[in-house]
Amino acid sequence: MATAPVPALRILGIPIHDVTYEETLGWIGRWVAEGGPHQIATVNPEFVMAARRDEAFRAVLEQAHLCLPDGVGITLAARYLGRPLRQRVAGVDLVEAIAARAAREGWRLFLLGAAPGVADRAAGVLRARYRGVTIAGTYAGSPRPEEREGIVRRVRDAGTDVLLVAYGAPAQDLWIARNLARTGAAVGIGVGGAFDYLAGVVPRAPAWIRRIGFEWLYRLVRQPWRWRRQLVLPQFALLVLLRRG
Ligand code: UDP
Repeated sequence: MATAPVPALRILGIPIHDVTYEETLGWIGRWVAEGGPHQIATVNPEFVMAARRDEAFRAVLEQAHLCLPDGVGITLAARYLGRPLRQRVAGVDLVEAIAARAAREGWRLFLLGAAPGVADRAAGVLRARYRGVTIAGTYAGSPRPEEREGIVRRVRDAGTDVLLVAYGAPAQDLWIARNLARTGAAVGIGVGGAFDYLAGVVPRAPAWIRRIGFEWLYRLVRQPWRWRRQLVLPQFALLVLLRRG
């Protein structure tokens, strides 16, 4: 894949691009028109900590066209490091923004991943909210290597422009880096739990909690099994604090 369209700032060595929703949609539109594989990652502090330890994941983020600042930890860290970002670009909100733009532009979306039936329900929600959006296909599948060829064929046969992959990080991002070119899709985005939110499987934090930057705490309370993953967050904060100066 080619290089990123805008220079990255780095948080603990991991690239982050200072782009807005609007600019992201602009890039997606350009890439759909041009064709060829383009990867977008939605980077939160858990990604940063994982990529510092996982060489393959780090390499994928390095070659991604856009590493979007997802999660309040990223925006706080950037501000603290003297490189404030203009916007936080969250995966699930981006999916809705893409669906809205896709309805206008005719981009064909494919929803890959999540538990069986969830992508289908998420597609139903998007079709209802964004009249005229083309969902070219949905499929749960799995990131296991033996499923790779079948999934690539499905996505290609659907004539996909934008492939949304919900296998969680880093599996979704590794999958996109490895397979996107053969799917024929112009853009591949790892979207984490976005289909679960859209389908209503997992409740989204109320807007006021999101606004004050405590969605991570809400997620921890609603999905307590996340505590292990969130253990890296204090470490992330400490490393950022120590990095200054
Ligand atoms: N998932 C999946 N197959 C797998 C592992 C995960 O479809 O082998 C899905 C899972 O059902 C969920 C999403 O990947 O919809 C990951 O959600 P999570 O909220 O963990 O994402 P993150 O926090 O990484 O953004």
